[in-house]
Amino acid sequence: MSKARWNQLAAQVKRCRHCPRLIEHCRTVAAVKRKAYRHEKYWGRPVPNLGAPDVGLLVVGLAPGAHGANRTGRMFTGDRSGDWLYRALHRAGFANQPKSESRRDGLELIDTTVTNICRCAPPDNKPTREELSNCRPFFSETLQLCNPIVVLALGALAWKATVREVIELGWLGPLATSPGFFHGAAVKLNNHRWLLGSYHPSQQNTFTGRLTEPMLDDVFQSARKLIKQRRTLS
Ligand code: SF4
Repeated sequence: MSKARWNQLAAQVKRCRHCPRLIEHCRTVAAVKRKAYRHEKYWGRPVPNLGAPDVGLLVVGLAPGAHGANRTGRMFTGDRSGDWLYRALHRAGFANQPKSESRRDGLELIDTTVTNICRCAPPDNKPTREELSNCRPFFSETLQLCNPIVVLALGALAWKATVREVIELGWLGPLATSPGFFHGAAVKLNNHRWLLGSYHPSQQNTFTGRLTEPMLDDVFQSARKLIKQRRTLS
């Protein structure tokens, strides 16, 4: 049942035209292209989740990159952020290979799904509040269908959206103050689930050394440990 709904969700995302500014931007970027990719056919529309329902780990980012996922059609692939993320997922055993270049590169996730809180590439990487709100039902359903043991939010915006959603879903009781984001943040949710936080592997963070590969590896090792612990309990 959840697999059928998962496929329907992907189809709905691909057809969605709720945010005219973003749809226009995705198409324009796909038509103009970056010189290095001028011979490629860009995806140029909303990007569905990469992975499967019912997984141990759900990785949550902000939005597809204009020449990354908006080109490849796969979440977080084809740009520098994706290179960092998939290398780290591979080192931690959550992906079959460290590369994430194109739709035909053989990448497979293991017990993991990658999603974004906004499914269309936004100008300047900044979706508006209204666009994030339009995309929220897709994120909520992704959380429910993935039913993950660990949700890893990459960056403060993904963290904030995830906290709001887990409260809404009853996975975290209403709190006097919302848990704050920092690299290495860990919040215990109901039913032995966890929300973890990491700096986003954007070039802003990786080029400046704010986020290093060992820092990202530590977060994925925590995720692996928590998934194992929960499965030992059941
Ligand atoms: S951002 Fe989300 S809601 Fe807006 S058009 Fe893209 S898929 Fe639809």
